[in-house]
Amino acid sequence: MATFDIPTEQWAQVVEKSGGPAVYKKIPVQKPGPDEVLINVKYSGVCHTDLHAMMGDWPLETKMPLVGGHEGAGVVVAKGELVKDVELGDHAGIKWLNGSCLACSFCMQADEPLCSHALLSGYTVDGSFQQYAIAKAAHVAHLPKDLDLEAVAPVLCAGITVYKGLKESGARPGQWVAIVGAGGGLGNMAIQYAKAMGLNAIAIDGGAEKGAACKELGAAAYVDFLSTSDLVKEVKAATPEGLGPHAVLLLAVSEKPFQQATEYVRSRGTVVCIGLPAKAYLKAPVFDTVVRMITIKGSYVGNRQDTQEAIDFYARGMIKAPFKTVGLSQLQDIYTMMHENKVVGRNGGAGSVILAIFAIFGIEHDVSLLNFPLRSGMPPDLILIWILELV
Ligand SMILES: [Zn+2]
Ligand SMILES: [Zn+2]
Repeated sequence: MATFDIPTEQWAQVVEKSGGPAVYKKIPVQKPGPDEVLINVKYSGVCHTDLHAMMGDWPLETKMPLVGGHEGAGVVVAKGELVKDVELGDHAGIKWLNGSCLACSFCMQADEPLCSHALLSGYTVDGSFQQYAIAKAAHVAHLPKDLDLEAVAPVLCAGITVYKGLKESGARPGQWVAIVGAGGGLGNMAIQYAKAMGLNAIAIDGGAEKGAACKELGAAAYVDFLSTSDLVKEVKAATPEGLGPHAVLLLAVSEKPFQQATEYVRSRGTVVCIGLPAKAYLKAPVFDTVVRMITIKGSYVGNRQDTQEAIDFYARGMIKAPFKTVGLSQLQDIYTMMHENKVVGRNGGAGSVILAIFAIFGIEHDVSLLNFPLRSGMPPDLILIWILELV
């Protein structure tokens, strides 16, 4: 069995008070408990949820001080004495659901995201923005050793989330699914997972550039909400017989697309809510919902099995996500960009249009910014996913 030299101190990004900032500093390396593993994190994705956690935006309290991050990929370097199915040297992923009780009626039925004792990485327990992070062994994602730890990181959040949503939709191979907010980070992944599952994806977002990108990723059709005069009609027209898609995946974080989906979903179809618009409500006509037998449901994150399936699609080369990698020390720069982009919007000629798109389809994972200094040849507004490298 492999052995590892584990330092007593490590670099981490620590939020010391609600509202931030994240402070890059050295902290002690923790020891795993009996049912836990210690993972030497090599790469971690940065998600908008991490910013919400730092800012204290949600009604659920975070631990404090807090090490954020819930898309960490690395190597298992230590484990507790009860851990049997994870070996030292294994590659493993830290995801949002860090652990659960495994004993309640939800956990018994593999609905562990609903466990009232769930531990959330980078929220109620320290996450992956540190070189050595702890996770419950039962819940870590098992990563094949030939998988690139850098590229797989965003699959651990965005990938699992959209894959779970597609499963929850009940859509079967050959059927049609509308993906609302398809141009964002989650949406880009949803198009690819849909295609890999044998579904026909109708991408909905704003602007020609996003349309081209969605088509390239495998969308069967693209509906531009900025240029269409009748979105409902156009979405239905894209499906056989004009009956509408069998399922709708709502990844948007504004309310309107949530109100509209029942208008174009096919009779007997399913509307799945994933995006979290602040203070939004769902409204649907009761008459239509009844006589057209429409199902409206929510989908949260995946369970252990969903996680392994989502990784398996990725391992087979069916999912690609463009990303940009910077050092762990630069986390606060990314937060600042995310924050400014949301609050102030963009500068420049196309600014107002892009701001409008962002306001309507401001996807949680859509970290596109104009003002950030370029660190690679990639224009910053094409960067949907940021990865941190932990040296
Ligand atoms: Zn996330
Ligand atoms: Zn439980």
